[in-house]
Amino acid sequence: MNNIRYNEDDFKGFVEDLISSGRIEDKEAGIAKYMIDNGYESLSEKQKYVFDQMIKDNTVEECQRCGVDIPWCEMLEALYNGGLCNYCQHVKEKMDAE
Ligand SMILES: [Zn+2]
Repeated sequence: MNNIRYNEDDFKGFVEDLISSGRIEDKEAGIAKYMIDNGYESLSEKQKYVFDQMIKDNTVEECQRCGVDIPWCEMLEALYNGGLCNYCQHVKEKMDAE
């Protein structure tokens, strides 16, 4: 996962969703909250490491079907649907229904 994507607008929204999803541990959630309030750069090296690992464990780098980067706003959903972007999830649902 490229750190540059941390600067995207909806990244903090994703981190907030991650905290409320209960997928991450208290310690990770504490660092994540600090990051939301103060920015990634204000984390210590150790915190960055924990944060990076946590993000790595809770993201899908690209859609498993079409290969696009999953936008942060779709990431949490992608974690539960097998790594699909919104579009492919939609297509899959349609195919499953037929
Ligand atoms: Zn896709």
